[in-house]
Amino acid sequence: ERRAHPPVNKIHRQDQTDFAEQLRRQLPPPLAAFIDQVGRLAQETGVRAYLVGGFVRDMILLRENVDLDIVVDGDALALARAAARALDVKLVEHAEFRTATLMIDPYHIDMAGARRDYYAAPGTLPQVETATLEQDALRRDFSLNTLLLAINPDRFGQLLDPHHGLEDLIAGRIRVLHSLSFVEDPTRIFRAIRFQARFGFKLEAHTERLLRTALERNGLSELSGTRIWKEFSLIFQEKHPAEAVRHLFERGVLAALERQWVLTPGLEDHLERAEQIVAWFHQQHLERAADLNLLWWSVLTAPLPVERQRHLNERLELPENIARKTPATINHAQKLLRQLTEQPPSLLSHLARMLLGESTDTLLTTAVFAVQEENRRAIFLFLTELEQIKPYIDGNDLKKLGIAPGPLFSHILETIRDEKIDGAISSKVEELELADSLRQVKKPESV
Ligand code: ATP
Repeated sequence: ERRAHPPVNKIHRQDQTDFAEQLRRQLPPPLAAFIDQVGRLAQETGVRAYLVGGFVRDMILLRENVDLDIVVDGDALALARAAARALDVKLVEHAEFRTATLMIDPYHIDMAGARRDYYAAPGTLPQVETATLEQDALRRDFSLNTLLLAINPDRFGQLLDPHHGLEDLIAGRIRVLHSLSFVEDPTRIFRAIRFQARFGFKLEAHTERLLRTALERNGLSELSGTRIWKEFSLIFQEKHPAEAVRHLFERGVLAALERQWVLTPGLEDHLERAEQIVAWFHQQHLERAADLNLLWWSVLTAPLPVERQRHLNERLELPENIARKTPATINHAQKLLRQLTEQPPSLLSHLARMLLGESTDTLLTTAVFAVQEENRRAIFLFLTELEQIKPYIDGNDLKKLGIAPGPLFSHILETIRDEKIDGAISSKVEELELADSLRQVKKPESV
């Protein structure tokens, strides 16, 4: 059931160095025009410009990527300004770094001069100094992210591969560029696992050892909670977070954060189900929005004792809303599931009343926790159908019937909705008749 390794080796020979044709084929016209322009201007000013990193990696893997990085062995900001002016493209300057971001919707193009990092201390953010392209590539996390494609017209599409990344990419291998990579920046532990799950790749053997050693030496302790949380959040936005989370458990990454955090068969089921339910939810295009961070964090931390959850949330400096909502989401989901199981609603209107007003994340989390399929179905039915059922008539119609506005209004409208959900009535005429007959009914006891 694991995803197949991408058929890269069918597409490219290992010694391929000319990607001009593929680049031409894969760049949409407005982007192609811009890249050409940057290349021409670079040539005119005597510098070299390259596409680099994730975009090149994904182009070779035939995957879409709207984030482009261009690296220049010269003044990137001047080049960006000139290209933006020539093509009337929106530009945001980051003057202090002499970099710029350009927008050609939906593409984001970051342009930077070649850099080299110095780490003041492990786990801190790097300091930057101008450097050559090869050194620039050395700053990167894995060889598959170091590929450069020239865009100057005299060498358009030529691959520059100073760290033999193409070979790794074709073999489906994630490899760090030097032995201290994970120590220098432990977020790469998460990045390696995220790429591994996303592409179905393997960690190269030495890289695997380095990763485990970095963890054993308590590498994560150097990282701020905010930086760790960001890595979780990136994993939760992936298509297959469950697989990445499994890798995090297998490597002991999560145990390094909280000793009691283990992958039980129950949690493994929940992770699988969460992935399916999120995919299902996105296919439905409902009006509701889900907060994937909240959903995944609730699912992932629910098995921990409340006290350990709190401790972990503090360690990760969770954003206030996630820290506040996670315990409530877990609680509500557990409570709803108990209700669904112990007092299964006999009417659809009862089900709707039980679930109405719950947040999307609570409902999806309840579905994740639900072992019995009928409980999951009930939630899906509510989200896709029951919740959408509303009376045709509203307060104005009730006024026209001579009913005085007040608590009786909502009682009548809710009763009509319930009857509609249960299929007892369906037309506007029937709604009006029901409203009329309900005007005599005593006010509900508690409103
Ligand atoms: P994604 O596809 O998830 O956006 P990406 O690799 O395409 O991943 P970013 O995470 O934005 O994009 O990173 C852009 C480039 O910067 C990467 O290709 C990588 O080479 C480099 N990079 C990012 N984070 C690190 C890091 N922690 N250490 C070294 N290099 C990094």
